[in-house]
Amino acid sequence: MPRLGSEASQGLRERLDQGPLICAEGYLFELERRGYVQAGAFVPEVVLEHPEAVAQLHREFVHAGSDVVEAFTYYAHREKLRLIGKDHLLERMNRQALAIARGVARETGTLLAGDICNTNLYTGEESRDTVRAMFEEQVCWASEEGVDFIVGETFAFAGEALVATEVIKEAGLDAVITLAIHKQPETRDGLSPAEACRVLEQAGADVVGLNCIRGPRTMLPLLEEVRAAVDCHVAALPVPYRTTEREPSFQSLTDPGYEWLPDGRPFPTALDPFTCNRYEVGDFAQVAHSLGISYLGLCCGAAPHHVRAVAEALGRRPQASRYTADMSKHAYFGTEATLKDENKVYAGEL
Ligand SMILES: [Zn+2]
Repeated sequence: MPRLGSEASQGLRERLDQGPLICAEGYLFELERRGYVQAGAFVPEVVLEHPEAVAQLHREFVHAGSDVVEAFTYYAHREKLRLIGKDHLLERMNRQALAIARGVARETGTLLAGDICNTNLYTGEESRDTVRAMFEEQVCWASEEGVDFIVGETFAFAGEALVATEVIKEAGLDAVITLAIHKQPETRDGLSPAEACRVLEQAGADVVGLNCIRGPRTMLPLLEEVRAAVDCHVAALPVPYRTTEREPSFQSLTDPGYEWLPDGRPFPTALDPFTCNRYEVGDFAQVAHSLGISYLGLCCGAAPHHVRAVAEALGRRPQASRYTADMSKHAYFGTEATLKDENKVYAGEL
């Protein structure tokens, strides 16, 4: 199949050299909440079963300010398809996800990104070949479907991220490589995020950084170290949850407000009470950008209003900003002269 050439006028690096880039992620959790993805296995069968739901979410993220449409191929890999007994759908699922994303990228003039991720099979050098073969097939399909670059994400092992980087670069594509840092502030193979990102940069990654697992508050200190350790562009895509020093990852959060959780923990389907509001997400984007981080987004848990907050924190006015809050016309809390004084006086009673 011939490679479907990119139609975006500029590539990833050119865009980043001009200013920050926003990449919305979080398709898995948002489509789970909407009833199209099953939590647990978390396989994006939705791209085949309800492609319209995926296209709609792509459009909503672009409407909210995303510069990138990322194909929903997270966990559309050989190991996950084996797990659900649907290996035969592997290529079709990948190509369909890429086609849906390409359609929205072309209609909106945004960049199209492919996506590969943690295989859950990497344990060290002995698993390198297995993992490499999995990346190679997905990167090949993404390349043929005309992506502008590939995101390799959520790698807890620097070694696995390194294999992903090599495969993407061998395919001649730009690579955004982001690590998942769990409770311990290091990769599972024992490198600090800064050391790991330096290794990835040396291997040719165009953008390095962190995604998923940690919320803004517990990711930021690690991002500062990464920024200081590399010369290339840095990516920051936290989960929009209020993680703390004691519970630094969204898997480790506990909810004293509800003791009947089916799995004994809020992750992954009862994280609602920990969700960051749009303002703190905006604060994060502003601080991260001021630190010199230029590839910004959010991961699992993000919804379009969060993406709009990132965009507005960078001084943008995406289409969705037309509907950004204006409380001056609120019946009770508003300031407009024509509003009923009786209601404004009563505001304190609400
Ligand atoms: Zn995530």
